[in-house]
Amino acid sequence: MKPNILLFTADTLRCDKVGVYGCSKNLTPNIDAIAQNGKVFLNAYSTGPWTGPGFGSLFTSQYPSEIGYTIKKSKNKNEQGYFINKTAPFLTELLKRKKYVTACFQGNYGACSKETGFGRGFDIYEQSSSKKSLIQALLLRTYSSKLINKAKRFIKKNKNKNFFIWINLIEPHTPYIPFKYIHKTNFFSKDLFYAILKSNKIYLKPKRNPEISISDEDKQYIKYKYDLLVKTIDDYFGEIITHLTKLGLKQNTLIIFCSDHGEEFWDHGDNRFGVYDRGVDHGHTQYNELIKVPLIFYFPEHIKKGKSNILASLLDVTPTILELLGEKQNDKKLKGISLLPNLKNERKQQTKRILFSESVIYGTEKKAVFDGKQKLIHHIEEDIWEYYNLETDSAEKHPIRNKNLPIELKEALISFEKNSAKKSQENEKHASKDEELIKKRLKSLGYL
Ligand SMILES: [Zn+2]
Repeated sequence: MKPNILLFTADTLRCDKVGVYGCSKNLTPNIDAIAQNGKVFLNAYSTGPWTGPGFGSLFTSQYPSEIGYTIKKSKNKNEQGYFINKTAPFLTELLKRKKYVTACFQGNYGACSKETGFGRGFDIYEQSSSKKSLIQALLLRTYSSKLINKAKRFIKKNKNKNFFIWINLIEPHTPYIPFKYIHKTNFFSKDLFYAILKSNKIYLKPKRNPEISISDEDKQYIKYKYDLLVKTIDDYFGEIITHLTKLGLKQNTLIIFCSDHGEEFWDHGDNRFGVYDRGVDHGHTQYNELIKVPLIFYFPEHIKKGKSNILASLLDVTPTILELLGEKQNDKKLKGISLLPNLKNERKQQTKRILFSESVIYGTEKKAVFDGKQKLIHHIEEDIWEYYNLETDSAEKHPIRNKNLPIELKEALISFEKNSAKKSQENEKHASKDEELIKKRLKSLGYL
């Protein structure tokens, strides 16, 4: 019998806020409970530091530049669109061939709307459709609970069919207003007002307002609110798992939990490379606090529980699902690998692998290459290279700049950059006339 598939994603969840990844604050008891009986990939990466690249690569198993989901802000203001190339393979279209009923409950309407290409192969794509809903989603954060209720109804209605469901909630994305916990903490109304002001001032526009000073106290406050949003997403995850259990569906459901990228909280300091780099938020660098993500698979009867240290990627999710459904993928377009042998403990050692990350949304383009032990970041326009030995400097705090670079990684990144530029040119042809609409949405979310 084919499994149901639940892809539950948190938008902007740092790896190190999840218990099974080492957080000791108990923010994620429901995620940890699933992880305990699932396979946890401790070294999993996104393909870029923000939503479009991360989820775009998850659904297509291609890099952002290959699918057209890149943003290039160069000195000549040459900008590209935010669309998934229609020729790219897309997970849900492949699942439709297997007769899956497919539904998405989408909390990030700005970056993952139907119009950006994420609606392909979905029978139902529930997304906010008015500015009011967007405000609800971001400020009052009531939209997530609506999405969860709709998702629960969908699961109940389709419990006798094979379904694929993608739930992407906006938490713990900014602004840092943990509405659900207002009454459960000492978060009284004055504090709420303060939070809204602060979130708007400090979070929504800090990159474009370099004169705003963020005190140490503000920084602590922001981190605390983020933690409460992490608890919120875990609560919603728990609600869906309980629902699956009550309906008797949990055993035959492949559950995948991940995020699209992380979040920086001044891990690399403040004011490093100009106004777009204030040390907070996401989309602006290729450091691990932004591109390392939680990735957990749960399907007890078919996979072995445990933790894996192999280098994994969001690119691998689609090939893994397809192989689990009996489809060995030979499509060269897919850049990920199937993790099924790792899920079954059949593959003990990983063959050498290198991964790339690209497509920053703020500042000039930076691309990265890494093999788990070493990492190179290239600031393309400035032609600055940063090299990190991850075995001795896992926090990437001590860059070696421009000299003694590992030649193999450097050549691989140069070749990737050339290919990216070529693909980007090709993809410009696919940019649809919806571009302005999508830019408006990204702007309304604070991305542009
Ligand atoms: Zn995101």
